[in-house]
Amino acid sequence: MKKLLAAVVLAASLLSGQAAPLPTLIIDGQNNHDWKSTTPVMKQALEASGLFAVDVATVPGGTGPEVAAFKPEFTKYKVIVMNYNGADWGEATRKAFEAYVAGGGGLVVQHAADNSFPQWQAYNEMTAVGGWYGRTDKSGAYLRWKDGKQVLDTSPGQVGHHGAQHEFVLDTRAPKHPIMAGLPAQWLHASDELYDFMRGPAKNATILATAFADPKFGGSGEHEAQLIAIEFGKGRVFHTMIGHGPEAMKCVGFIVTLQRGCEWAATGKVTQPVPADFPKADAVSLR
Ligand code: ZN
Repeated sequence: MKKLLAAVVLAASLLSGQAAPLPTLIIDGQNNHDWKSTTPVMKQALEASGLFAVDVATVPGGTGPEVAAFKPEFTKYKVIVMNYNGADWGEATRKAFEAYVAGGGGLVVQHAADNSFPQWQAYNEMTAVGGWYGRTDKSGAYLRWKDGKQVLDTSPGQVGHHGAQHEFVLDTRAPKHPIMAGLPAQWLHASDELYDFMRGPAKNATILATAFADPKFGGSGEHEAQLIAIEFGKGRVFHTMIGHGPEAMKCVGFIVTLQRGCEWAATGKVTQPVPADFPKADAVSLR
């Protein structure tokens, strides 16, 4: 039945002249965040765009052989969304994942997924920066915006932190990038965690948007990367640090950057218009 439905959807999209939806996989199952609530929100947001057909692969709990045996067929998908922060996968799965992204597969790293796998070098290159779980100065540099440009800040210090949740402004830093084209220069994000002090290899990484981590809320006092585009081999990675939970994910800015980031990671282009309800510099917008 599922196959028949897929065939009908494909036929309908061919007849209407629209491209078939992009096969998309969300990976979840272990996370110190509420993945059971956030995966359906992201799946719905992606499918609402009409561009994505979303499967979910849920890693079993624990650290036993079931986790090592987890091995979805990555190459069936144009883009993989990581909503996973948990136990190490088996080596064969890690190698297959590296080959998938390096070979041109799309990857989206969502919020705490950048905490995962501190020891997996290739994964840390895919995310550019990460935090917590034993990461140190040796993990790489802070990725920040200073004096009008992107900088790798190698000053020593902690790795991974956020202050109290609050509404904060996202500053567009790469307005010509397909994900950002047409978005306002500044927009107010719904109350969320603002990740700061994140560090990593940060190779082939372009900051798309930053947020000022205001010390008033316990932040670093720096303009910290929040949306990042990374090249890994032939693959494209969109790293979004926002979206701690389902409430923050109601922000139209989160939804739209997720939709656009997924499309870019999958195809290298963004065809979606910026919706009229996109947040303004001084006004949050929720769906
Ligand atoms: Zn969080």
